[in-house]
Amino acid sequence: MIPFLDLKRVNEPYELAIQASTDRVLKSGWYILGREVEAFEAAFAAYCQAKHCIGVANGLDALTLVLKAWEFPAGSEVIVASNAYIASVLSITLAGLTPVLVEPDTHTYLLDPSRIEAAISSRTRAILPVHLYGRCCDMEPIGKLAEQYGLAILEDAAQAHGALYGLKRAGNLGDAAGWSFYPSKNLGAMGDAGAITTNDDALAQRLRALRNYGSLKKYVNDYQGNNSRLDELQAAILSAKLPGLDADNERRRVLARQYLNGIQHSEVILPPTDQIEQDVWHLFVIRHPRRHQLQTYLRERGITTDVHYPIPPHKQRAYESYGNRSLPIAEQLHQEVLSLPLNPSLTDLEVAYIIDSVNQFSE
Ligand SMILES: *Cc1c(COP(=O)(O)O)cnc(C)c1O
Repeated sequence: MIPFLDLKRVNEPYELAIQASTDRVLKSGWYILGREVEAFEAAFAAYCQAKHCIGVANGLDALTLVLKAWEFPAGSEVIVASNAYIASVLSITLAGLTPVLVEPDTHTYLLDPSRIEAAISSRTRAILPVHLYGRCCDMEPIGKLAEQYGLAILEDAAQAHGALYGLKRAGNLGDAAGWSFYPSKNLGAMGDAGAITTNDDALAQRLRALRNYGSLKKYVNDYQGNNSRLDELQAAILSAKLPGLDADNERRRVLARQYLNGIQHSEVILPPTDQIEQDVWHLFVIRHPRRHQLQTYLRERGITTDVHYPIPPHKQRAYESYGNRSLPIAEQLHQEVLSLPLNPSLTDLEVAYIIDSVNQFSE
């Protein structure tokens, strides 16, 4: 049996370091917003080449808090890809703003810069590029449009820890970036955790208040904030795992190359191969016109796969009012995508077996 993701196995190499971290926190007697959070924030900001990192409770809060901090007029529009993860869209509506869904590039599955301009209106205030599956969006043309129209850029980097765009790291490619350390992410905690990175001093200061009831000084509240604090335990665990992130990502690349070289099937569409080195391969997503049959067949061979994602945001009941939009690219992708197992704990033998199985699926 090959599970899609066995987090116990993924965390095994970090067991001693994690135990030392949790022990340190237990014995410190200090559990919320202390030294561990400060140390992780400093380390992760440096890793992302960003000036500030603000730890928060989860990835959805990270995105939502930035959009709130910008204080756009109610009803302002934010451009996001139509095949984005639901949390990216939720952050926009939770901040009282309006998502404008733009179809993705059919090759990279990322926000298509050539479709952005047509979606810009007098109410547009920001673009939210989601670095889906571990690959950075094409930020140069997106940045040019943002500059031309005076729009802010909020990266959704929740699947892109360590990803590069040219020589720059994700988290340092816009005005701010939202991160998730949900256990299954490339850098995963042992519970919920998130962060924001930014080079903007004033924004960072405001976010530090917003995550903590709008307060920077105890019992003095400058804003109507949230409670969205990263706790000491998760921060200490993340500090234990951060030094291994690059090696973990490199292992993902090795496995991705094995898939890319090994899978030969006339009906399978492989992910783009032009940025193998910059991509951090959070997911290895193939496409097949009979996705459901392929998934069932692989399950019969003991291989668990997953679908990211089965229903596009505009077809969710939560966004009923968007249901009749015509977004054929997103709809087709959601019917065809299939994620094969890919994580640092997967062995060469397991990947070889998965490749063989895919190749033997009837054409
Ligand atoms: C995981 C994820 C989020 C949300 O993160 P949580 O910590 O689960 O709130 C947002 N966007 C993307 C692209 C994600 O993969």
